[in-house]
Amino acid sequence: MSGGSSRRGFFRDLGVVARDVRGAGDEGRDAYGEMEAALLEGRAEEQPAAPRTAGALAPEELDRYSRQLVLPEWSEAAQLALRDASVLVVGAGALGSPVSLYLAGAGVGRLGIVDADAVELSNLHRQLLHFTPDVGVAKAQSAAAKLSFLNPEVEIVPYQVRLQEGNAADLLEGHDLVVDCSDSFETRYAVNAACCLAGTALVEGGVVGLAGLVMAIEPGRTACYRCAFPAPPPPGAQPTCAQAGVLGPAAGVIGSLQAIESLKLLTRFAEPLTNGFTQVDLLDVSLTRVRVARRGDCPDCGPL
Ligand SMILES: [Zn+2]
Repeated sequence: MSGGSSRRGFFRDLGVVARDVRGAGDEGRDAYGEMEAALLEGRAEEQPAAPRTAGALAPEELDRYSRQLVLPEWSEAAQLALRDASVLVVGAGALGSPVSLYLAGAGVGRLGIVDADAVELSNLHRQLLHFTPDVGVAKAQSAAAKLSFLNPEVEIVPYQVRLQEGNAADLLEGHDLVVDCSDSFETRYAVNAACCLAGTALVEGGVVGLAGLVMAIEPGRTACYRCAFPAPPPPGAQPTCAQAGVLGPAAGVIGSLQAIESLKLLTRFAEPLTNGFTQVDLLDVSLTRVRVARRGDCPDCGPL
């Protein structure tokens, strides 16, 4: 959480606004200001965390997660499983924003955020983790700051790198689940291959225009992304978001579905939608379930 670029952005402005609103002056740093300073100075890990007991939720956790704990499908065991889980989110953009916000809010124990890019003005209509003062700031850092603010109980680890075939295995290590929120087929196939090799659960997602898809994968047990789509489309065959456009709420829907499948895989509060993908079309708000079986000749997860 250190570095020159992170000294710009949301927290700098928010600190000023918060102080001005409260009229506290320089001597009266409020909670926002204190957290801003801690994050920018790289000592966010020194923030006091609520005391934790192994196998039990602390009173603050019971309060923070009370509205999901009360769900008949959820349970304290599910909450504890989530607290013990480590998730890697690949991409802190249109899909990575809702995915990581919901997972941090829900109480996942550790959240790694992989993104090599910096925030651009054209990102802001759909990438909810980043605000106008963040333009030019590294997305991994901008995301980590907001997520730490949302839930200081979650360990946020920013990785300012591009996931590629060569570093995928290292990045995946130690994670129970990967959520692929990237926007390139090259990354998507690299993530799938690495997850299959490591046996790490994966939630794939993609969105363009007003449509997208979501796929939950348990490598070695259920169909992988390559079982569903054996080869990437030829370069240029699929329009990018820059070419075809994308509506912010469409990315929000797909990212939210990815977050739900992630929570299922991590806690088993419900069975994840594996062995197929869900095709979402938001023009007529239709969800189509497409079944996919594992392929014996799949180069990533085969042979059976
Ligand atoms: Zn496969």
